[in-house]
Amino acid sequence: QRLANQIAAGEVVERPASVVKELLENSVDAGAVRIDVEVEQGGSKLIRIRDDGQGINKEDLALALSRHATSKIADLDDLENIASLGFRGEALASISSVSRLLLASRSADAVDSGGWQVEAAGQEMTPTLAPAAHPQGTTVEVRDLFFNTPARKKFLRTENTEFGRIDEVVKRLALSRFELGFSLRHNQRTVHQLQPAQSIQEKQRRIGLVCGPAFLEHAVYIDIEASGLRLWGWVCLPTFSRSQPDLQYFYVNGRVIRDKLVSHAVKQAYRDVLFHGRHPAFVLYLELQPALVDVNVHPTKHEVRFRDQRLVHDFLFRSLHKALADVRP
Ligand code: ADP
Ligand code: MG
Repeated sequence: QRLANQIAAGEVVERPASVVKELLENSVDAGAVRIDVEVEQGGSKLIRIRDDGQGINKEDLALALSRHATSKIADLDDLENIASLGFRGEALASISSVSRLLLASRSADAVDSGGWQVEAAGQEMTPTLAPAAHPQGTTVEVRDLFFNTPARKKFLRTENTEFGRIDEVVKRLALSRFELGFSLRHNQRTVHQLQPAQSIQEKQRRIGLVCGPAFLEHAVYIDIEASGLRLWGWVCLPTFSRSQPDLQYFYVNGRVIRDKLVSHAVKQAYRDVLFHGRHPAFVLYLELQPALVDVNVHPTKHEVRFRDQRLVHDFLFRSLHKALADVRP
């Protein structure tokens, strides 16, 4: 069983950033409003994520660490219709098979008088349940990632590179969930401190904190709707992007994606208006009826398939073309 977990862990747990991604998705699924991430040594020494979500019942704590224990699929029909980010029920099991994991939680249910915790480390089978002082919500602490799989540990890059990937995971989520508060600390230093953002001004403020003030300075805010599609967000003029590394975030119905059709439409618009399509920088949100897009092509690959590719491409091209032409220097 543990071996099966370790094998499965290869798919989910490639590096510290993949742990952070899975744990953040769990916190979002649990309805958290505030999520705090603490990392040491690029995540290989410690990853701790605390949320104020619905928590886990005492009875379900140990179960949460076992394989295919998911509370998110009630029946097979659900598989077709997954709203929550996680649904495979193997992240915690996989992570705990290659680390020392502590899961502490206090559920929102009134029947639980206090918090509880379980610990699991690598091959050790049965997690032991103990009382824990914990406010409502959940903390997952992952220490010494890959301590028992040295071959995989060898594949980790430098501390800064691994932390950079974690930072990227947090940023991606922070840019799609404005209504949640986030913090990120690395080696005791605060990297992000983001308050929940409701108004457009607050969202803009978050964009500045996440993408940097230079991005905001050169960006225009757009919000365009046509034929059932809506595109909003921030597009940058190349005055910014030429001197900066690529900064490209594109969300479809709240999910970050990388898509050829989207890149093509964006590039085309830049090229048409500014005579070159190099390094466009943007944070954009496309919203459309769920029936018009297939986002479950692969749970981890950030791919989508639009039902009407031509419609989406033309809409993106036209919207960006107009936005860029309006502000062309
Ligand atoms: P999945 O998310 O695919 O269901 P996981 O292994 O990631 O599988 O988590 C197993 C289960 O543990 C979840 O279905 C959920 O019930 C519970 N769980 C994990 N993390 C949290 C959290 N932060 N808050 C509340 N429940 C959680
Ligand atoms: Mg999960």
